[in-house]
Amino acid sequence: MSTSNNHLKTYVGGCHCGAIRYSVEMDLSDGKASKCNCSICLKSNRLSITLDQDRFKLVSPASLTEIPEYQFGTMSQHHRFCAKCGIHCFAYGSYEWEGQTVKNFGINAVTLDPGQGVDLRELKIAYWDGRDGNWAAGAMDKPPAGGCY
Ligand SMILES: [Zn+2]
Repeated sequence: MSTSNNHLKTYVGGCHCGAIRYSVEMDLSDGKASKCNCSICLKSNRLSITLDQDRFKLVSPASLTEIPEYQFGTMSQHHRFCAKCGIHCFAYGSYEWEGQTVKNFGINAVTLDPGQGVDLRELKIAYWDGRDGNWAAGAMDKPPAGGCY
């Protein structure tokens, strides 16, 4: 259930060439972002901000299915990237946690357009040990082994 949140603001972003454009409503008052040392997060150096998918609106192209996706492993995540410039803008899917299926959605925060009052340096980054599947360890202040800042 969604509750009213005075900190929600609309931000826009997209890939480098402009083929992918999106807008998102986010509460950045707590400045939370995350990085992970798993194979895909590391190689794409993704800076993730998670949000409810219904706060995300694809502006261009007309539908998600027009954007190529990359999947691997359990195929539970959809990594959407621009076919022209290669920039990875967002990912979503689901995972199993304590017997429940949890839906997830996250933008790559570096694809937010500059000039919207978001200072990426000020985000509080939670580091996760996805490489070892050690989600139970929780968010860390520093990257675990195999990760990077
Ligand atoms: Zn592009």
